[in-house]
Amino acid sequence: LEIVKKNDPELYESMALELKRQSSNIELIASENFTSKTVMAAMGSHLTNKYAEGYPGKRYYGGCEFVDISEDLARDRLKALFGADHANVQPHSGSQANMGAYMAVLEPGDKVLGMNLSDGGHLTHGSPVNFSGKLYNFISYGVNEAGFIDYDNLRAMAIEEKPKMIVSGASAYSRIIDFAKIREICDEVNALMLVDMAHIAGLVAAGLHPNPVPYADIVTTTTHKTLRGPRGGAILCKEEFAKAIDKTMFPGIQGGPLMHIIAAKAVCFKEAMSDEFKAYQKQVVENASTLADALKAKGFKIVSGGTDNHLLLVDLRNKDITGKAAEKLLDEIGITTNKNTVPNETASPFVTSGIRIGTPASTTRGFGKAEMLEIADIISWTIDNRDADLEPARARVKTLCDKFPLYRD
Ligand code: PLP
Repeated sequence: LEIVKKNDPELYESMALELKRQSSNIELIASENFTSKTVMAAMGSHLTNKYAEGYPGKRYYGGCEFVDISEDLARDRLKALFGADHANVQPHSGSQANMGAYMAVLEPGDKVLGMNLSDGGHLTHGSPVNFSGKLYNFISYGVNEAGFIDYDNLRAMAIEEKPKMIVSGASAYSRIIDFAKIREICDEVNALMLVDMAHIAGLVAAGLHPNPVPYADIVTTTTHKTLRGPRGGAILCKEEFAKAIDKTMFPGIQGGPLMHIIAAKAVCFKEAMSDEFKAYQKQVVENASTLADALKAKGFKIVSGGTDNHLLLVDLRNKDITGKAAEKLLDEIGITTNKNTVPNETASPFVTSGIRIGTPASTTRGFGKAEMLEIADIISWTIDNRDADLEPARARVKTLCDKFPLYRD
């Protein structure tokens, strides 16, 4: 940051403030993480200077022979990590990856089944305010009363609607997704199977969640959530879709790839193959479970009764506070979460009845069981004493953060 400080002090000020916020707050947003310094070094490098439209060996610009090496490393590592036939590492984001995948195999107006946003799906799974819902005829499936994906209903819908594709994967779902069962349903109605594993990719890489790659025709992901890489997207697919996917990403919907980000993705995929990464993901899952149990013991209602992965959804209706108010309250003491709709939501999406809590970022920081128990206690105390002086809670957050400094070197 020193060079930014010297040459652009105004911008430096905002960057320094954000670093301070990340260091002195407990980050519980389920989709966030802290990348390694190697990932950051690759991102903040001279590779940003290079135009490389096309793919390794088939570029539309000269001088691509060295960035080709970076992109090949990223593609080969990603394929090896998940056992895929083909990988495209050019999507600038998870949304771009989904757009590329949809446009490769669907025509506008095609019927697709996707998970409801309010039950945990993502905007790109057919929300009417998103390109997915505008371009394609998405029909939503969701979770049952207990908060689990209702596979029987999904099957019944698939038989009734005969979709061209079924999209699974979620942004706010805390249970294992049964990809084998979804494959069966797809086969029964002759639908394509697309899995968006953005949230769980790190868990899948570590063998802690079933891998969708053997089942799905196409798998999309982000690289910045549990996978702990740079902000970006990627697509994996069976060989028969490789050409269509590549052609759709470029020249279909993107121009020049971000070679610095692709290099950082290569770093991320290498890191994700390590034993250290597997141990980290194990701790992420254990921490989420500990937090869910501890909050339950304090009278909080956890959607589906618990978690199998890196996140939990807290239904706050019995605590008489909205998701919006809880997010703001916890922000005031230095705990960052996000408001989230819950199954059978009664409030608007801007208010919501729940919060989503995830452990990937705090686990990267070094938090373990003791810290999760302390966080549950701080959250519970704060919500119960929302009208009191919150200084004691702030002090407890500071103690935790001071004990586990971020980017300590
Ligand atoms: N897919 C899922 C399941 C997500 O949760 C997200 C982001 O939250 C995305 C796609 C979109 O990723 P991006 O924000 O990089 O466009």
